[in-house]
Amino acid sequence: MKHMQKNKIRILSITAILLLSVVFILPVSADSMENTDSPIFSVPGKTIIIDPQAAAMRNADSAIDYGPLHIPEIVIASSNAMKNSQTRSTTSEIYDLATFNNLIPVRSDTVSMPITLYGQAYTMNLVKTNYDDLGNDGRDSYRGTLSGILDSVVHFTVTDQNLLYGNIRFGNESIVIYPVQNREYTARTAMQLHVVYSEKDLLQPSEPIPFCGVDDTISAHLTDIELDKSVTRAGEYDWAYVDLFIVTDKDFYDLEADWIACASDFLGEANYQFQRDDIKVVLRASYLDSVSTMIELSNDPRSVTHPFALVVDKYPYDYPNDYLNVAHKDICVYLGGKDANMAPPNQYAQGMSGVPGRHTWSQMVADSNSFDIYYNGDRKSRIYNFIHEIGHIFLATHELSHEWWDGIPPFRHMTVMSGMYLGDTTQWDFSSSVPAYNGDATHDNALVIRGYKHNVAAHA
Ligand SMILES: [Zn+2]
Repeated sequence: MKHMQKNKIRILSITAILLLSVVFILPVSADSMENTDSPIFSVPGKTIIIDPQAAAMRNADSAIDYGPLHIPEIVIASSNAMKNSQTRSTTSEIYDLATFNNLIPVRSDTVSMPITLYGQAYTMNLVKTNYDDLGNDGRDSYRGTLSGILDSVVHFTVTDQNLLYGNIRFGNESIVIYPVQNREYTARTAMQLHVVYSEKDLLQPSEPIPFCGVDDTISAHLTDIELDKSVTRAGEYDWAYVDLFIVTDKDFYDLEADWIACASDFLGEANYQFQRDDIKVVLRASYLDSVSTMIELSNDPRSVTHPFALVVDKYPYDYPNDYLNVAHKDICVYLGGKDANMAPPNQYAQGMSGVPGRHTWSQMVADSNSFDIYYNGDRKSRIYNFIHEIGHIFLATHELSHEWWDGIPPFRHMTVMSGMYLGDTTQWDFSSSVPAYNGDATHDNALVIRGYKHNVAAHA
């Protein structure tokens, strides 16, 4: 009970002026995308690029019926804006649709494979990084680099169903690939359809968009926390292993091609941040495997009115039904498949955590607020929400996040705990005073996480 302070879940005050000021900003550089003859990403011999119009032709005799495609609205809107601005042909989209055939047939611990990016050949070197207890389940996650490309980062999660959830970052590019068919049609289709695009081609909000329903002034809880002295004997630079129990509802289960592979993709990116030298946390996951429980979550009205309260209620850690302790899980993460509609002051919240506490909720789908095509279930926004809300469990705060401007013209950046969403310039990293990271002595969430991580790991 000692960590079960009353959860402070009031959203930051949001002014109507801020909401009204959110307008489109076209991406600055479309130059590298001019060569529309080459696919954005391909694995030679294993990739088929599908014409978007053909993919949309459902039930026509000559077309494969891929079912309804959940290409995020921000991707469609950005493609249309680019065509309307005449920086590219009116028939070419900023994204590709593609299928991948048996990408990594032998799932060795290390894999080297040839790829192309905008027609240029590269070699990708990957190391397996499964952070779950699923064993040999046909899903594998990898982290790696592009051979010879400094600062390149690759995250791939592949499945036996020909699904790929992935991201390749190099220079100022961040190319993302993920399935866009739902679960039902994924099962019916031999070669699953994916969307592929560069995040720098997406529209940017002109102002940061508030999304987190946690009100977390530092003074409110850092001084309140009673650190468990028995676990703080481990050093701040020793590794802490934290066990997540990731749950979802039937809505997200049905929406995604493979919700566990999707969550594994998030987990790979979260671990990339949490495993930094100045944090040293490994996040391990188990997944809810009961569809009947997912249906229960979807049928509960709180999945819309207060998803955070719902998950706290369903997976408690206190007497008499201390589910999380019995299951030896430190944190319960709810990936919400519904557009939540919470009562004021939380009407704009798309994520929430117990601070301090052991539960998080992150909305995985578009929000009905009209200003909000930016936070709408694309990979960037989902992972931002996922990492951000878990960060709160480690006592990281909005107040300790860092903000800066760079580039020509200057673009605003904010670290992952800011509680605001900025689109492509959004960062997933935590603020830190360690050189080469983003922050200073008074904006150092890495320090906070480092100090509290062993308490989180000792929850169960
Ligand atoms: Zn927050």
